[in-house]
Formats: sequence, structure tokens, C-alpha cells
Amino acid sequence: MSRREEILAEMGLAPIWRLRRKSLPEQNFPEEKSPLTTPTGWIELKQAVPACTACGLHKSRTRTVLGVGDEQADWMLIGEAPGAEEDRLGEPFVGQAGKLLDNMLAAIDLNRGANVYIANVLKCRPPGNRNPEPEEVEKCSPHLRAQIELIAPKLILAMGRFAAQTLLGTDASIASLRGRLHAHAGVPLIVTYHPAYLLRNLPDKAKAWEDLVFARKTMASLR
Ligand code: URA
Repeated sequence: MSRREEILAEMGLAPIWRLRRKSLPEQNFPEEKSPLTTPTGWIELKQAVPACTACGLHKSRTRTVLGVGDEQADWMLIGEAPGAEEDRLGEPFVGQAGKLLDNMLAAIDLNRGANVYIANVLKCRPPGNRNPEPEEVEKCSPHLRAQIELIAPKLILAMGRFAAQTLLGTDASIASLRGRLHAHAGVPLIVTYHPAYLLRNLPDKAKAWEDLVFARKTMASLR
């Protein structure tokens, strides 16, 4: 057993499944009744997402937003769904929340281009930025599932209640999920606040900083 596997076992996260391009276990994803099959490679995924009509969001989207960053990254950050700017530009977290996210990443010596991949649970914008519907999550989940499988990150940072609850299959609050190590499909996962929430609740930035420090320490122990 490698040192990393030993640490994960101590954390109660073994066995882990990190074999690139192999199927992830079904755990934590909503039951898939979607007609979509999980794409097996980046080329397929990059064709499947812009062509997707599995839920009603395709009718109102301008562009799909698959994700951005290093496709071999150790860090995978997952938010909720594209907003107006993301829908216009086809890239996640490019609005005000994205600027804050970039600053948060810089604070722990990361940036979106290097060793970090950023995605959302949904690949299309819900009109008027309403909350995603369970059916939309269910229909979109093969895309996220494929992304996680292809990237095989060492650590997932779930940003915000929606991403955390979706990835962990729980309706627990952010407050109760923060500060602990979880797992999604065998990948260690840490929960933090959504950058858009932090823009409205500045005092909680200190807690988000604690989460990032915890995430950085956890990553160091996984190397
Ligand atoms: N909020 C999200 O959850 N994702 C984005 O891409 C932008 C804002």
C-alpha cells in the first residue's frame, strides 16, 4: 500500500478508485434515468455536451459550459450552474464570483490554468439563475460523471450548498458539511461556500479561507 493509500485508509476513504478512464462507482450520483450514456473520452464529451438536449435548459441556453482548466489536474472545483456571463462566454466562473474565486485560488498558490479544473454540476444556465431542478441534475449527471472520471482529480472542492448536496447525496447544511473530509465516488471531497454567496456575506470569507487551508493541507497529505 502506498503512503497516499495509507493516509486515505486512515481517513476512512479507502479503497479509492482513481484509475483514469475506468468507470466510477455509482455512489453519490442521482440515479441515472437519462438516455445519455457516459462518454468515454474528452473528444466524445466535448461533442456530447454542446449537442445535449436531455433537459429543457437547452432551449434557453446561449452556450453550454463544460469546464475550464487542466484536464489532468489534481484539484477539481465544482460549482452550481452557469450564470449569465458564463452562458454568454462558454466558460465557468467568469463573472464577479469568478474574480473572487481566482483570488481565493491565488491565495493558496493556485490558478485556473494550472493543476486546477473548474466545472459546474449543470452545463447549461437555468433561466434567471433559478435553482437547478432535480430532473436537470439527473439528466446532466453523466456529463459531470465523465469529467470526474477523465480528470481523476486527487481532491474535489464542492463550492456551495447545491454542489455539496448533489455530490454527497445529502440535504445537510453547508455549516454541517464544512471542515470534514468527505468522498464522492471514491474521490476525497471538501465543502466550502460558493463565491457568489461570499460576495454577499463578507464575514464568511474567513471561514472560506479556513476551508482552503484545510483543502491545501489535505492535498499535501495525498501527494
Ligand atoms: N456560479 C456557478 O456556480 N458557476 C458559474 O460558473 C458561475 C457562477
